[in-house]
Amino acid sequence: MKIIMLGAPGAGKGTQAKKIAAKYGIPHISTGDIFRANIKNGTELGKKAKTYMDQGLLVPDELTCDLVVDRIQQPDAVNGYVLDGFPRTIPQAECLTDALEKLGSKIDYAIDVNVPDENIVTRMGGRRACLKCGATYHIVYAAPAKEGICDTCGEKLVLRDDDKPETVQKRLNVYHEQTQPLIDYYSGKGVLRTVDGTRDLDEVFSQITEILGE
Ligand code: ADP
Ligand code: ADP
Ligand code: ZN
Repeated sequence: MKIIMLGAPGAGKGTQAKKIAAKYGIPHISTGDIFRANIKNGTELGKKAKTYMDQGLLVPDELTCDLVVDRIQQPDAVNGYVLDGFPRTIPQAECLTDALEKLGSKIDYAIDVNVPDENIVTRMGGRRACLKCGATYHIVYAAPAKEGICDTCGEKLVLRDDDKPETVQKRLNVYHEQTQPLIDYYSGKGVLRTVDGTRDLDEVFSQITEILGE
């Protein structure tokens, strides 16, 4: 099963993608996590990506596309994957479609987690991230057992630099301009499914499992 998660920053794509990955036994591939891991490790890619990410802008397509096309051909992805945060532009979507066509494959579902901008701002302000293992929490809606500490790996949780309110508004603008057109793109391919992302975590997930099947 090959799945794409669509939706605004903070809509809950990552949260749901992790649940999908666990239930269906497929890898969760997040370009944001890949970039953050590169930043943490001080790689060349990380240095380049950081300048864009800190400003709430998208990393250029040419730094992003090859990375994903390579990742989806790794052995753990033979039975499918859930892509989170990619594609984010029409050129990225076209690059993915072309690469999959060459491999004789295609995306099965593009799931749009629909959340209005008003709700996004509260979600992002309360988001706390573990930069070591990629786990995500919310101070109210998905709190860790011990305040400020990752349940999974014990690392200190942080408010991401790009989750500060001044950057969130910019990321929402970037989303509407560059990413929202993908809804029409995947609708045109007959694979778009929309879920109401304003519901609580488990309700959003049951809408998704209804689409994907047991
Ligand atoms: P969120 O989950 O809040 O939407 P992500 O972790 O997916 O945030 O992305 C954080 C940042 O990483 C983005 O604002 C952007 O700068 C960069 N990024 C992630 N994925 C992509 C992509 N597919 N194309 C370009 N930039 C990306
Ligand atoms: P995205 O990957 O789309 O940027 P996340 O999955 O990181 O979004 O979720 C953004 C924030 O909102 C996180 O703090 C997360 O714990 C919280 N969150 C996710 N889904 C819900 C939900 N259905 N209700 C309330 N909070 C949520
Ligand atoms: Zn962790």
